[in-house]
Amino acid sequence: MTKTIELNVNPDFIGHYKNKYPLINKDAIKNPGDLSAEGTLVHLIDQNSNFLAKGYYGKQNKGLGWVLTFNEGEKIDTVFFKSKILTAINKRQSFYKDKNTTAFRIFNGEGDGIGGLTIDYFEGYYLINWYSEGIYSFKEKVIQVLDELGDYKAIYEKKRFDTKGQYIDDDDFVKGERGEFPIIIKENGMSYAVYLNDGAMVGIFLDQRDVRQAIRNQYAKGKHVLNTFSYTGAFSVAASLGGAAKTTSVDLAKRSKSKTIEQFSVNGIDFEQQDIIVMDVFDYFKYAKRKELKFDVVVLDPPSFARSKKHTFSTSKNYPELIKDTLAILEKDGIIVASTNNASFGMKKFKKFIDQGFKDMKVKYRIVEEFSLPADFQVDRNFNQGNYLKVVIVQKVN
Ligand code: SAH
Repeated sequence: MTKTIELNVNPDFIGHYKNKYPLINKDAIKNPGDLSAEGTLVHLIDQNSNFLAKGYYGKQNKGLGWVLTFNEGEKIDTVFFKSKILTAINKRQSFYKDKNTTAFRIFNGEGDGIGGLTIDYFEGYYLINWYSEGIYSFKEKVIQVLDELGDYKAIYEKKRFDTKGQYIDDDDFVKGERGEFPIIIKENGMSYAVYLNDGAMVGIFLDQRDVRQAIRNQYAKGKHVLNTFSYTGAFSVAASLGGAAKTTSVDLAKRSKSKTIEQFSVNGIDFEQQDIIVMDVFDYFKYAKRKELKFDVVVLDPPSFARSKKHTFSTSKNYPELIKDTLAILEKDGIIVASTNNASFGMKKFKKFIDQGFKDMKVKYRIVEEFSLPADFQVDRNFNQGNYLKVVIVQKVN
């Protein structure tokens, strides 16, 4: 066993840890230089050497590691991992029972008590995301727990811990029987093709499940839906199944086209009746304006940062402009599904961005509905940043 390292907490942060703040923040620690091997267990102590919390060292963009317990006597061993994972699984019983949804998150990092680790379930397969080398050092324990849980087809993993928290391209297979991908998962009765062995992204973002369901059931019928930053077209599929007159999907990535065709096809939708366009969204806005195209529903789900040849887009700076571009091609009474997964600002600020866009165009709107993370993406109420997803559905009022 490597020995535990004591980390001295800056006085400003002691209150945070007394209030069960889970992140070991860079600024919170006086002696980060004492840390060397990731995965080392650390004790956070105050200036009088009183125990505050126990955690592990694992460098992430967010910080130096995560608190695992505020209880000095609690051991960080297989029993610890088992109890956290079992508790998390118990909270997802309604998902296990739902025959129409076969893909969901069973463990959500600090929201389930272990920061830096997520586990998704895809119809018999587990996908583990390791967000630091530190948490990766506990791999054996986590796998042991999954093994004890019994039946699964295979375990895959994504190592997201190069210097920038980026995905490390690797084989991704851990154990079990290698899958034949795509596997077709179900979500509220819709089908989605998923690849666990093909890079950082698997084909669907599970955290948007409730939004896809809303688009399908409430917003799509008879409408022309524009899906921007469409990736594999998951929102377009939902809209189409909800009776959209037509969908238009726009993404810059070349492979988004074949991926979107595949998602339509596994749902029995004729993709040739849909528009799937490989183009920079910002160019598409110009094109659509020039051609006087109008849409009833526009989905905006940009990455937090996007860099293309001509544009740099950051949600925290440019969201109002995205709204303005959208308003130029939005039908009367049109709907905007405005989404962001940027953790650096909250719902209040996001609504300000939306408001700014409408105000600049002198257009009135009303907020119809709001979404945050779905129930399987448990959040730690002492860590707001973990509640990253913000979706606001607004309607233009004429
Ligand atoms: N909305 C999608 C997820 C979007 S992921 C879903 O729910 O499944 C972000 C996508 O934005 C990626 O597929 C990426 O290729 C695309 N993207 C990034 N910058 C872009 C740009 N300037 N124009 C069009 N697409 C862009």
